[in-house]
Amino acid sequence: MQGDFQAHSQALARLGVPSRLVKKATELEGLSGLILPGGETTTFLKFLQEEGLFEPIRQFADAHPIFGTCAGAILMADQVENPFQPSLGLVRMTVRRNAYGRQLSSSIRTLDPDPELETGPEAGTPLEAVLIRAPVILQVGSEVRVLARLDGNPVLVRQGLQLAGTFHPELTADTRVHRYFCQMVATTNSGVVSRK
Ligand code: GLN
Repeated sequence: MQGDFQAHSQALARLGVPSRLVKKATELEGLSGLILPGGETTTFLKFLQEEGLFEPIRQFADAHPIFGTCAGAILMADQVENPFQPSLGLVRMTVRRNAYGRQLSSSIRTLDPDPELETGPEAGTPLEAVLIRAPVILQVGSEVRVLARLDGNPVLVRQGLQLAGTFHPELTADTRVHRYFCQMVATTNSGVVSRK
């Protein structure tokens, strides 16, 4: 609908994973996973409401992995601040929008991810995190696993089938985070893991 969906398609293509765009609820059919890209949540919310996508995405999340980056992660949270706004409530976390300041204070940082992410050619090297008017994850529920932190705050988290990151792995050549998500999708489809 909006945001950097193209960059995500390219990141998946680099891994040889096919993808297609979803703008309507019926287009979720047949998919094994969903990525909610970065962009502007206020615009996303307008489209999601107009297209009646809130409930279909929630239902999709019951049995399929979803990965949200930045704005996508804000949509997945169950509490949003600055200002309060509705969200899908897929991950038990509180996020504060635009917490690193405006566009000017967007930055590229490096972080050490959880060993679980350390697969493929980039394993063991620092992970670049591109932050663009990013939210801060202020707190997470006990069922949420933190896979990476920056300055002490979680920046990549997982709850069951849901993965949410406040940075943009689709904007770097590093494929680790997308590979991790594709692995979640593959194991879910083969019935190895359940939702919790
Ligand atoms: N600032 C945006 C929002 O709050 C998110 C920015 C992004 O996705 N890069 O909706």
